[in-house]
Amino acid sequence: MDTNLKHALEELKKSKHIIAFTGAGISQESGIPTFRGSGGGFWRNFRLEEVATPQAFLKNPRLVWDFYLERRKLAKEVQPNAAHKAFAAWEKIFPFVGVVTQNIDGLHEQAGSRNIQELHGSLWRSKCSRCGKTVQDLNLTYSELPHCRDCGGLMRPDIVWFGEELNPNTINQALEWMRKADLIFVIGTSGVVEPAASFVRGAKRYGAFIAEVNVEETALTYVADLFLRGKSSEIFSSLSEAITQPT
Ligand code: NAD
Repeated sequence: MDTNLKHALEELKKSKHIIAFTGAGISQESGIPTFRGSGGGFWRNFRLEEVATPQAFLKNPRLVWDFYLERRKLAKEVQPNAAHKAFAAWEKIFPFVGVVTQNIDGLHEQAGSRNIQELHGSLWRSKCSRCGKTVQDLNLTYSELPHCRDCGGLMRPDIVWFGEELNPNTINQALEWMRKADLIFVIGTSGVVEPAASFVRGAKRYGAFIAEVNVEETALTYVADLFLRGKSSEIFSSLSEAITQPT
């Protein structure tokens, strides 16, 4: 085990309130392409303004739904990896383990984590564009566009699109968890999407130890107390193995 990993393990052993702040990179090894940085792909085939904005949905809801149904298809074919699984397993070892994620793929939940805040929504939910009611619809397919069972409004993916506000309840819960944290792992995020990245900078002021895990340095590296360079599944398998070994 290298020195940085040993340092992370020491911090982990003395922590009671641990947060995983995750981005697309944690799911890259499961087979879901990232947006920026190493492991990017899928998104390069699309212009974001055509599929991930409220204006795009107003203009062409079918194109937007087709894009998200395609992403669901990909997400259904993949499995959580060792990094997702580590945080689910650690819920049984530490007093509190929470996940604050920018991802919409549902892999933390699938891995078994129970304390999750999804800052940017979920691929697996739809929301009524008129009354705001959300529903989980894991097996959605459609020939006609989906409509709300309550008010008849057009359903849209429950994703926070570019130019939209994050859900205030999600923000509050995520911030509370991050303020209380002794240790925050910042994993697989380029740290350029706001306000998400500001949560990490804010938590630092409340005294959390920040350990960043990434294959390359990012816009948040300067905030980190420790930088663990490498693939997240490998780093968290090592930490998980070490934490469960008797000392
Ligand atoms: P990003 O695409 O901007 O950055 C990905 C980061 O992950 C990069 O810093 C890259 O170096 C790193 N990375 C790649 N492979 C890695 C690995 N194996 N281990 C550790 N790090 C690795 O991702 P972001 O910061 O999350 O911002 C993208 C936005 O797009 C988010 O808002 C997110 O909602 C959305 N998005 C989500 C998914 C998903 O749900 N899986 C996928 C793509 C994009």
